[in-house]
Amino acid sequence: MQEFPRYLYRAPFVVTGDGPVIADGAVLTENGLVVAVGSYAELKDVDAQVEDYEDHVITPSLVNCHAHLELSYLAGLAGDCPAPGDMVGWIRGLLAARAAHGDVAAQNDASLLALARLYAGGCRAVVDIGNRVESGLIGGGFKTEVLFFLELLGLCGEFEEAALTALAGIDADVRCTAHASYSAGPALIRALKARAGNSLFPMHVAESAQEIEFLRTGGGVFADFLGERGVEVEGFTPPGMGAVRYLDSLGVLDKHTLCVHGVHVKDEEIFLLAARGAAVCLCPGSNRFMGVGIAPVQKMFAQGIPLVLGTDSLASNPHLSLWLEMQVLREDHPDLSPEAVFAMASGNGARLLGIEGRIGTIAPGVSSSLLAVRCPAKNGAEVLEFLTTAGTDISLEWLE
Ligand SMILES: [Zn+2]
Repeated sequence: MQEFPRYLYRAPFVVTGDGPVIADGAVLTENGLVVAVGSYAELKDVDAQVEDYEDHVITPSLVNCHAHLELSYLAGLAGDCPAPGDMVGWIRGLLAARAAHGDVAAQNDASLLALARLYAGGCRAVVDIGNRVESGLIGGGFKTEVLFFLELLGLCGEFEEAALTALAGIDADVRCTAHASYSAGPALIRALKARAGNSLFPMHVAESAQEIEFLRTGGGVFADFLGERGVEVEGFTPPGMGAVRYLDSLGVLDKHTLCVHGVHVKDEEIFLLAARGAAVCLCPGSNRFMGVGIAPVQKMFAQGIPLVLGTDSLASNPHLSLWLEMQVLREDHPDLSPEAVFAMASGNGARLLGIEGRIGTIAPGVSSSLLAVRCPAKNGAEVLEFLTTAGTDISLEWLE
């Protein structure tokens, strides 16, 4: 095991993530782990090298619960927004850009740069969705842990059959998931969920009004688009309900299901999410860019639904920063407390991934990969206010 010296990091404030902000705080670390956290007065006599972070706050590292590193090479798309809410228009642009940029080496370079960017922004773990098995190797050697999922699509007929056949041939150690209920058929979604068992199952859910229209009626611009792609949409029986209720009718909504976006959900679907224990990954930056609407976050929060944050890809978000996501979320929902929002970007995500014993909070036994964030706050309340609203003004360094 690599030996780390014993350090005492001192800062005007320490955000532990599971208790009040500690003023004139300190974190004692040894061999890559936190040994103790408390006030500097309590810890000052320990035998350790003191590192003083004046004008900073020490925080847990962040967790990004939804990204597509594989799409990073399409970052230009995020500068060219389609009509507000036109998800189908954006998908069309994405597919055209994909077809025009076939250089896999350049794509991989862009993915690596995006991952480096996430790390530079304080992100310690990311749930990454891709369409190529090789993309699961992107995280090798990076300090940001990449939890890769191979995403399958196939709505009906030969497309769904082909996806089911492909699924049967995928190595058991590759995590797989369904893209969305408008792009993966019921048999495929059920098969993927069964394969996932008691591990995380992320899916795009209720992102746009166009998606809900298709699920309710089988028509609309999504049906036109799928028809253009050669899908015989008549082979898909529209469930006639919203995306959350539909997934529940398939029996795939439980505490391991991570519903990504969750913008267009009815009140009764929020109750359903809560009853099943399903989590929601909010992507406020991507939602704003796409103009698809704002998720009913307060209602979800009031129902105790586990809420986490994701950046989504550079193709639908000009930034890959959880600080920006927190800022947009606070702007969209001024009533949310900064504590709750910071937890969505840190501890909640770690808990969802089952790595809360290592990251997401500052407590004895967790990793000493922590952040020192420059912060002008004068008191504990100002600290979380600053962290959740500063966005691009955040400047940080890693303690490790
Ligand atoms: Zn996505």
